[in-house]
Amino acid sequence: MKHYTMSVTENELEKLNKVYQYHQVEDKNPYLLFHAKHNDIDILGYKTGKVLLQGAEITHELVAIKTHLNKEDYAAIGSDEVGTGDVFGPIVVCSAFVNKSEIPFLEELNVRDSKNMSDQQIIDIAQIIAKKLVHSLLILPPSKYNKLVKDGYNLNKIKALLHNQAIIKTSSKLKENVPVILDQFCTPQLYYNYLKDETLVFRDIEFHTKAESVHLSVAAASIIARYAFLVKMKQYSQKLGMNLPKGAGKEVDEAVKNIFDKKGVKNLNLVTKMNFKNVTKQDL
Ligand code: MN
Repeated sequence: MKHYTMSVTENELEKLNKVYQYHQVEDKNPYLLFHAKHNDIDILGYKTGKVLLQGAEITHELVAIKTHLNKEDYAAIGSDEVGTGDVFGPIVVCSAFVNKSEIPFLEELNVRDSKNMSDQQIIDIAQIIAKKLVHSLLILPPSKYNKLVKDGYNLNKIKALLHNQAIIKTSSKLKENVPVILDQFCTPQLYYNYLKDETLVFRDIEFHTKAESVHLSVAAASIIARYAFLVKMKQYSQKLGMNLPKGAGKEVDEAVKNIFDKKGVKNLNLVTKMNFKNVTKQDL
């Protein structure tokens, strides 16, 4: 059984509701606009703007849906980052190239924003994706991050520098020019301002909020980046002999204190982004 989730606008959802009007089945789920069955595939249109496909083979139906919505597949580089909301662990940026012919492959794997996937789901597919796609991965360890912060860099500048590098690396591996899509974290103006001292700046970027639903390359990049982040977190945890929690919650406060007490500030600095409140608010 395969699953695939796509994001659609309100108009597109209405359009699909009409397309499938003679194939609808009863479903009492209040979040659904429609539930249709077509060619042994379940098509569920959610009022929240998601369409879920379920069936043994979903590619054909997906192609049909995209045709109905006038959505054409195209090649692109997508760039995304992870680890910026986590006190522990590195910041990871990935830029991934997805060819038009690789899109059905990613759809079959139900590639989507890594934020909506469990760690296990990411572990299951990240390596398959990474092997198939041309991509560049940059990992900024906490010790380097802390040094940059000390030197006056803010988080968005750090992100801009990493994305710029990763995008240049990926695009230099390609023979063709393709659109470059960045999951927007600041205005384009600010982005290029952060890069004003760089010798090489990749200028032709499309900035999108929720970019992972604009092109699968962004979602694929986010999955590869998340996987690298998880691997690093595991390594750091093993080295310390204690489990590093993700995020920036209460659990993290306790872990920060614990590492400081048992391993000292030097070791804390190796695994922790020291400018987070979880660290600075504590009496260490
Ligand atoms: Mn993002």
